[in-house]
Amino acid sequence: MNQNQQQQKLLDHFKAQHRLPNFAIPHRYNLTLNPNLKNCTFSGAVTVYASLLESTRFLVLNSIDLVIHEAFFTDSNNHKVVPTEVVVENEAEMLVLVFNESLSLGDGVLEINFTGLLNEHMKGFYKGTFVDGGVRKNMAMTNFEPADARRCFPCWDEPALKATFKITVGNVPLELTALSNMPVFDETINGDFKTVCFEETPIMSTYLVAVVVGLFDYIEETTPGGIRVRSYCPVGKSEKGKLALNIAVKSLELYTKYFAMPYALPKLDMVAVPDFPAGAMENYGLITFRETELLHDELHSAAANTQRLLIVVTHEVGHQWFGNLVTMEWWTHLWLNEGFATWVSYFATNTLFPEWQVWTQFLEETADGLRLDSLEQSHPVEVEVHNASSVIEVFDAISYQKGSSLIRMLKEYLGDDIFQKSMSSYMKKYAYKNAKTEDLWMVLSEESGVEVNKLMDIWTKQTGYPIIYVKLEDYTLQFEQTRFMSLGLQGEGQWIVPVTLSVGSYNNCKKFLLETKVGKLDISEFHSSHFSSSLPNNKNKKVGEKPWVKINVGHTGFYRVKYDSVLTARLMKAIEDKCLSPEDKFGILDDTYALCEAGEESILSLLSLMNLYREDLDYIVLSRLINACYDTAKILKDAIYDPWNHLNQFFIDLIISSAEILGLDPVPGESHLNTMLREEIFKALATFGHKETHEELKNRFQIYINDRNAPVLPVGIRKATYISIMKTSSATDRSGLDYLLKLYREADAVQEKARVLSYIASSPDPELVKEALNLMLTNEIREQDTVYVTARISLEGRETAWIWLKENWDVIMKRWGQGMVFHRFIRDIVTPFSSNEMAEEVEEFFSSRVTPSFVRILKQSIEHVRIKARWIQKIRQDESLIPKLTRRLTRTPLET
Ligand SMILES: [Zn+2]
Repeated sequence: MNQNQQQQKLLDHFKAQHRLPNFAIPHRYNLTLNPNLKNCTFSGAVTVYASLLESTRFLVLNSIDLVIHEAFFTDSNNHKVVPTEVVVENEAEMLVLVFNESLSLGDGVLEINFTGLLNEHMKGFYKGTFVDGGVRKNMAMTNFEPADARRCFPCWDEPALKATFKITVGNVPLELTALSNMPVFDETINGDFKTVCFEETPIMSTYLVAVVVGLFDYIEETTPGGIRVRSYCPVGKSEKGKLALNIAVKSLELYTKYFAMPYALPKLDMVAVPDFPAGAMENYGLITFRETELLHDELHSAAANTQRLLIVVTHEVGHQWFGNLVTMEWWTHLWLNEGFATWVSYFATNTLFPEWQVWTQFLEETADGLRLDSLEQSHPVEVEVHNASSVIEVFDAISYQKGSSLIRMLKEYLGDDIFQKSMSSYMKKYAYKNAKTEDLWMVLSEESGVEVNKLMDIWTKQTGYPIIYVKLEDYTLQFEQTRFMSLGLQGEGQWIVPVTLSVGSYNNCKKFLLETKVGKLDISEFHSSHFSSSLPNNKNKKVGEKPWVKINVGHTGFYRVKYDSVLTARLMKAIEDKCLSPEDKFGILDDTYALCEAGEESILSLLSLMNLYREDLDYIVLSRLINACYDTAKILKDAIYDPWNHLNQFFIDLIISSAEILGLDPVPGESHLNTMLREEIFKALATFGHKETHEELKNRFQIYINDRNAPVLPVGIRKATYISIMKTSSATDRSGLDYLLKLYREADAVQEKARVLSYIASSPDPELVKEALNLMLTNEIREQDTVYVTARISLEGRETAWIWLKENWDVIMKRWGQGMVFHRFIRDIVTPFSSNEMAEEVEEFFSSRVTPSFVRILKQSIEHVRIKARWIQKIRQDESLIPKLTRRLTRTPLET
């Protein structure tokens, strides 16, 4: 092999690895960026102080879409060497500098000059726009997680390769603000432009580096600990950043105490940017937000918007410890970042607003995790990540929702005090370093004396979760576990399950570890206590008086339960007698729905259970009930012929009494949860076409359209109103859509804009759906906002949306294919279908078009279609079911 062949072989070897070779490690970056907002380009220079650990002729780092103009290395002997070759491997996202002599070991300095484009895909260093005095102007900002720092400057772009960063931003128009991770160190003015130098950061990962150049107003506060916190908002709107500012200040203090570790930087800025792919990004010291997540508007933020703002701000501030101070070693451990930030956001929100009872709402997070993880196409929490472009796919319900639910389950098992002590030890031990999942288990084991790795390994390394079948024989409960899968397959797998249970009363509790496939537990003690406490003089044990048994108390465990018929009957009675907590009622409904979907329960038993929740007024119970109504309605509409609209009436009947109690208008001083509930209930009534609600909302909308100041459309019923308006819009009477588009164009509040966009594709007329989708191809809707439009395409419009996607595939790919919002396109357009034929058609279409960046989400979406197809077949196969169902829906007594 000659030298060229040898070199090529080495280059191929580097490309084939998914991690960089560790010839050199960086310690310090001096980075200068000069954006040109007119031309949407930038030039940059980076000086990297690195240590050479191996004698090598190659320096291998990450870079993509950058043009390298000059590169040289100064070795430890102050000897300047210029690479003989600069190899840009765009596909492998690598830059290889080839030298004709081996570089000497020890410290050296690499200098590179480069240029790039401010792209329009909201990743790397990108172009955004803002409106100033009616004129649209350019701004520039970064978004690097997971692997896009390499689009802005050549670097060792892996989370474990931490370094310090001294950042300078030049060519900044005088009227604009430049922000970065650290406070400004120095600013020099040159004509109409300025150069802003920032202080050097502590050591941190590349994906947390950030720069924003734009036009903002800000407000600030200082924490009692001396940290300067600012909210940067669009000009004239800084007051809207007040709530977020207040929450950030409070949560900084709260986390400092909880983790027994101060916030590491001198300042924390939060900035609302008009073009942003996700909700927010926790860049160290400079958190960037989608505007809807940071700006709070007294008139236009609904209760759910306010709560979401709190969850997002506390999540991102939580990352300043979990993620930024202690960082995952590799993307496999992303869940450490996201699971903990999610958990800690509920912890902080609950501490700041205990009356919101957000821990009960956390069950919705758990339910999302359980739902995704019941797919064959799910993945383990600790997921193998090979390819930078596929990292983006693991920012999903497994990392966030399953991750945080596992943390909660473990915390419940170990206890609050031990958990908190372990967290502060973990922070101390790994501050400014990186950690793997097993490092966390080690600390928790040391503090608790429990073998946490033995308990948790299987939960994070194995896909899926268990369903536990429970039977009662005399006074003994029999347990059997197996993997739960919505497609009805009996999965492999066994878990160590921390089982909790209550018998007859929440005072009678027990917990144990189910470590084997089957297990049993004697509960005779509770039978005697149940009868001695509840029925002191009654020795006759009638069926109805036997104690109920609830497994997974409070639904805090990440598993499902299926009870035998005796235990099910007792639980139903307990629900009727109002003996169960809202959390348990939520859990029973969520499990029953999933079992029904997987073909393990009949749709009749699901409807009977839903019927028991009719009078409930608890937020989480009703919101779960309403979601079950939406999903069941869609399935039944595809499964049976219902020309009389019995289905809609059945679902309306379930919630109408709660609607009557709450009323359409907010009641002064009412609870946050009632305000949230009103929004959900009236949305549901509008969706199911409740006549009186529709008439009332339509009338109010007419008044509102004529006079925006008329107090007829409080923010909590606007979504319901827009649903109602779109339901009666069609190509022949398109006034509803036109009114909504007018509202969208005129709205100043971002929440209102998002709210309107959420319903423009919800008309039952496919023509109007198509029109709404086409609007996304114009410049009228920002790329970040397309997610609102696709999320609520009407069932009647699904075919049209699919055809639209196929027809416009090349344009869609070109415009959105690189961005985060693209996953939503696939999911929102594919999952509404419910037949195997459609699953095949989708597979066929994508067979030549799928790329690694969306292969997983596509497979998951297709699996959802197949699950529904299987469920529908089951409903249709049972010939006696349809007459029974019709009687159920027309409210004649249910035959069993
Ligand atoms: Zn996060």
